[in-house]
Amino acid sequence: MNQESAVRNAGVDDATVASMQINPRDELLATLSKRLLGCSSASETFMEPLPGVEGPFQDYNDFRARALKPVDELVRICECDGHAVKIVLREGYACRLAEVRELRLRAGQSSLNELVGDRMPAAKQQEAEAGATLPALSPEEARARLSQHELRNRILPEELVALLDALPESSYFSRVFLLDEANPEDLWVRQTYNPGFVSAAATLPNGDLLLFRTERNEFLRVNLIHEWAHQLQRRCEAEFKIFHDAVELGWRFYVPNTYALRSYEEHWAVIGEELLHVDARRFLAAAGSAPIRSTVWMLVLRRALAKSTGCGLNLYRDQLNARVIHTLQHVLPKARQALESFAQSGEPEQQGRALRVLQFLEQATASTDKTGSTGSGQDSLAVGTDSGHTPVGAR
Ligand SMILES: [Zn+2]
Repeated sequence: MNQESAVRNAGVDDATVASMQINPRDELLATLSKRLLGCSSASETFMEPLPGVEGPFQDYNDFRARALKPVDELVRICECDGHAVKIVLREGYACRLAEVRELRLRAGQSSLNELVGDRMPAAKQQEAEAGATLPALSPEEARARLSQHELRNRILPEELVALLDALPESSYFSRVFLLDEANPEDLWVRQTYNPGFVSAAATLPNGDLLLFRTERNEFLRVNLIHEWAHQLQRRCEAEFKIFHDAVELGWRFYVPNTYALRSYEEHWAVIGEELLHVDARRFLAAAGSAPIRSTVWMLVLRRALAKSTGCGLNLYRDQLNARVIHTLQHVLPKARQALESFAQSGEPEQQGRALRVLQFLEQATASTDKTGSTGSGQDSLAVGTDSGHTPVGAR
């Protein structure tokens, strides 16, 4: 089923689609740079690949032992306005990105005031560092140099801040590492998943998010949602088991992309990419095609939104709440119908799964009206204990 027909079948009018549509703000780099509040230095241990080790490996522990070595490095840790999460870069990479920032600002500046105006200390510090290596350049000269710069398309820390603004709860990430290297665990993922695999991002049970050689492009927002979804999943252990049942009942009929079939964890994150996608039609298509999985997922999201700590701007809360309401009104009935069908005429294993999911839906929506508001007693979140057996949510 394509997106358009899924939207038509969902019977959704244009105004409803518009209420769920996310239109990201376009902000000037100079404005965003003011949101880096201060930077400190520290030493951080990174795992790096040992040259010449190719595998194959017996298991993940064998890979870690034979293919990686710890290396201590000086890093810069940036605080950012509006979020509890810290952005971490190796010192050398931070300096090179400062050069890119300076070139981009000079190439696009309309007045000197924009460049030297009311900056926060961190941005001033970074500009001073860049200025030490760059002579005064005209906008034309800056554009020419920028076009030749190896890192011209890399995301800057302050641009990451704008992406964090869009997450339902940015504090699920404790630190975001902007890295100028490939994922050292790619070798393991290639052995266990796909020989040509290259990670764009990964997230760890401790809340660290790793972004590898990340450029400004259309995939970045989706990748961030994918990794955020992994963190959400780690906070809903009981519901995630119900999601396993939902996957087993539905995966033969629909998966948004085959990466979802790698594990339940990846299935959860890939479905999340669709449900939280800026394009409301992507949400509607997934919800229409996978009503059971989407309902379970959106009920967990609803609770996350209700329990938000307020750390992080969550700019699109209204649109996400509109999607939750749509789920309760239009997707939940479809999910129930499909589950009742499995319960009545499915295989014995399907019947058991369907009954478990139905019971969960009954409990999770018992004190919910169709406006999406939640009862007082049902939002005790089963905080998952991270076993750590899945090393990275790599993709
Ligand atoms: Zn993943």
